Amino acid sequence: MYDLPELDLTERFRALTPFMEARGVVAGGPLGRIPPGAELAALREAVPDVRAELIASGTPLAVTTCDLITLPYPTEFGLWRAGNVRSPYLWITNRMLVVQWDDPDGELRTLLWEPSDHELGDRTPFFARLKAETPIPQSLLTSVHGTVLGHLRALGIDPEDVDYLAFDHLHTQDVRRLVGTTRPAPDLGYTDRPVPAWFPNATLLTQAQEWEALRHLHPLQAPWYQPETYLDLPPDRLALVGGDVLLGPGVGLLATPGHTAGNMSLVLHTDGGLWTSSENGIAAECWAPESSRISGLRRFRADWGQEVVLNANTIEFAAWQYDSMIVESLVADRTPDGLFPQCFPSSELTGHRLSPGTKPTYVHGGIEHGRVRPGTVLTGVQR
Ligand SMILES: [Zn+2]
Repeated sequence: MYDLPELDLTERFRALTPFMEARGVVAGGPLGRIPPGAELAALREAVPDVRAELIASGTPLAVTTCDLITLPYPTEFGLWRAGNVRSPYLWITNRMLVVQWDDPDGELRTLLWEPSDHELGDRTPFFARLKAETPIPQSLLTSVHGTVLGHLRALGIDPEDVDYLAFDHLHTQDVRRLVGTTRPAPDLGYTDRPVPAWFPNATLLTQAQEWEALRHLHPLQAPWYQPETYLDLPPDRLALVGGDVLLGPGVGLLATPGHTAGNMSLVLHTDGGLWTSSENGIAAECWAPESSRISGLRRFRADWGQEVVLNANTIEFAAWQYDSMIVESLVADRTPDGLFPQCFPSSELTGHRLSPGTKPTYVHGGIEHGRVRPGTVLTGVQR
């Protein structure tokens, strides 16, 4: 067991209840009260209410997408049983979304979704081993497109003006440089003082279930987490969310358990309709295998009758992950050609010369809406 900081559920956001009622869960309570098949039927019925509530809440000021890194990932995880592809690895691109909205009091709020510190992510047990065992130089396998701080600088956003940080789940994440620590961290070069926060005013939002899982990692979960890096985080920079909440106009977090117990999806109401973003699947076609040109996916859909292809590196709760992906595909609007739901994979499949046969049929590439506002300059808000 890891002695993580004790945290309470935050009450600062409005609850979005239809899916939680469909699942029969209460905020922060246990998952899986009803069989996954019954849950799926109930969730499908709740979709129109959630969509209506999100649309009625308005739209954020701005959403923009920043590419972070493209890296290899085992094909058997990314496409699980569905792909009929020889390459043992495919490539995915991690991206960060910057989302801004006005609170009812007129204050500008900035959320960073998936602001991965990929330098430290490399230390995750699975990736550390992969790196050590791969004879090919990392520079040939991995392309770095930018860093979290570099992108914000380019957008004119002061790190002090970032209010919220959130990940769909905490696999591979080491957030110490993002929110700082309460004690020295010699492995990061801070031998006699705590790690200073890149985002001194930001709160990291995590589902309560994710926090609990991190405290008691199961062997199926352990290769993907770095729990020891969460022990000395400042509790006042962390907040637990229990289920589905509306952060601001057209910006919500939906609990989408399955890939991990405390997985969540960002949902955005933009000029281009409703979007969801998560790592439940790695490509647009994973939510619509019937429209895929990757070998095996259409066949998988037809033979097995399964509507989605799970990103299955852990298979903790596969039936819940399936249900969550159906929720995402129904909450999201469709792409203009009508073939794919606007489910944006935060780690999106990217064609690569070392992985023939895995070129995605459709690439979302990002979500763009409105224009990002550099906080301090225009609002004059002092915090
Ligand atoms: Zn994951």
